[in-house]
Amino acid sequence: ASQFGINEALEKLGIKFINEGTSTGLNNFSSGEILDSYSPVDGKLIASVKMSTAEDYEKVMQSATEAFKTFRLIPAPQRGEIVRQFGEKLRQNKEALGKLVSYEMGKSLQEGYGEVQEMIDICDFAVGLSRQLHGLTMHSERPGHRMYEQYHPLGIVGIISAFNFPVAVWSWNTALAWISGDVCVWKPSEKTPLCGIACQNIITQVIKENNLPEGISCLINGDFTIGELMTSDTRIPLISATGSTRMGKIVAQAVAGRLGKSLLELGGNNAIIVTPDADIKMTVIGAVFGAVGTAGQRCTSTRRLIIHESIYDKVKEALIAAYKQLRIGNPLDENNHVGPLIDIHAVEMYAKALNRVVAEGGTILVEGGVLSGEGYESGCYVKPAIAEAENSFEIVQQETFAPVLYLIKYSGEIDNAIEKQNGVAQGLSSAIMTNNLREAERFLSVTGSDCGIANVNIGTSGAEIGGAFGGEKETGGGRESGSDAWKIYMRRQTNTINYTTSLPLAQGIKFDL
Ligand code: NAD
Repeated sequence: ASQFGINEALEKLGIKFINEGTSTGLNNFSSGEILDSYSPVDGKLIASVKMSTAEDYEKVMQSATEAFKTFRLIPAPQRGEIVRQFGEKLRQNKEALGKLVSYEMGKSLQEGYGEVQEMIDICDFAVGLSRQLHGLTMHSERPGHRMYEQYHPLGIVGIISAFNFPVAVWSWNTALAWISGDVCVWKPSEKTPLCGIACQNIITQVIKENNLPEGISCLINGDFTIGELMTSDTRIPLISATGSTRMGKIVAQAVAGRLGKSLLELGGNNAIIVTPDADIKMTVIGAVFGAVGTAGQRCTSTRRLIIHESIYDKVKEALIAAYKQLRIGNPLDENNHVGPLIDIHAVEMYAKALNRVVAEGGTILVEGGVLSGEGYESGCYVKPAIAEAENSFEIVQQETFAPVLYLIKYSGEIDNAIEKQNGVAQGLSSAIMTNNLREAERFLSVTGSDCGIANVNIGTSGAEIGGAFGGEKETGGGRESGSDAWKIYMRRQTNTINYTTSLPLAQGIKFDL
């Protein structure tokens, strides 16, 4: 790690050997147990975090509640200025934070930097948006009346995030929540607690420099038990939760039980349809990056390739050849394509999936396996694998968070491929590779892809911040980031003003006194 400047990065980000896991923006404290963060890159202890207790959580909630009372009064464009300064701080810390993301989570350094760049981009987007939180005006049916709608700040936004995007998901939420006048309480993944500490340290500088109310950005650390305090807390009107479908179902029920709002960003099972008119070279690039990028640990990773039988062998051979070129190793070394999985548990799930696909009748085309020896001491490095499978296999129906790609054959018309693509419980990202306009439009039409993201001649993996991000079905239905995703962070109010001297009732109802 020292050769890649990790120690300097930790120092710049204010990470100590033992960190207080609870923060109200200016005050850091914690009275819980110690959580050690080991790097999947080399298996070494990076640093530790004291977890938050129920008492710590209560202090955070009081601070956030107080902060909201004053923060909501700051005009939205001035809140935008705060987010602009936050974006500047991120620019100054991009290298250090990108390195920490890569070292604590295991994604490649380029992807680590890319994640921080996404944070910067959403800040820019939010700054512009801070002058555009528009409502509509409507024509009243009554004479002398004006009707319009406005958006007010919502309150405390609870953010529960996953390990695989340990910093960006927080910023997608906070940048929009802050310009909306909300305050945030964040519980990062217990697998990447230091990324949470680092982000909180960065925003703390902005809070200090602007004399902002403590509590606009709060941090708690811990496992699902501390998450449960948030989901059942009526003081939190919106819970934004990113993670597995299993978690989403529990969180959604807890939040719905108190009629709170939830924004869910859950698992995907993303496919690329490859038609006879596909550009094979583009297909291979899109599929390989989609399947092995972040070692298959993106919610938008490509898990299934649905290939027309007429070009099946050609695509298969090209993929096998491409997989031979892959270099697996330390993700901080820019020569490597594939880094480690997050932990040993993820390695077990990967190995299980490969056994399962064979047991269900699939054929392994590119052999997997866990790597050992020099450079692989953490035990988290695995070989990206390809298997021939049927869409109906139980294992294919599940999201395995690892670099396992399933090749599925289709014959006949494009509708047969779309049926397979839609034939899973998840609905996050999808793509078609084709130069045939009819096929592409069919894929995007009402009878086409049922996913939140549908691409043509681009893979499934990743997304620009300008669009609304999220998916349907078991992906949870939430939308984050661009477009009008900001609306969920505000409460909408419809206002009718009567500027006459009489009070006509709606629908012509007479009520003479
Ligand atoms: P996970 O579900 O194990 O954990 C996610 C977060 O939820 C963690 O912070 C965890 O502590 C918390 N949590 C778990 N149970 C909880 C409960 N009962 N109450 C409150 N909080 C609880 O997920 P993970 O392994 O960290 O991440 C991988 C998953 O996340 C994959 O399924 C992936 O597809 C999904 N993901 C989705 C998106 C998206 O935008 N759709 C983005 C990133 C990751």
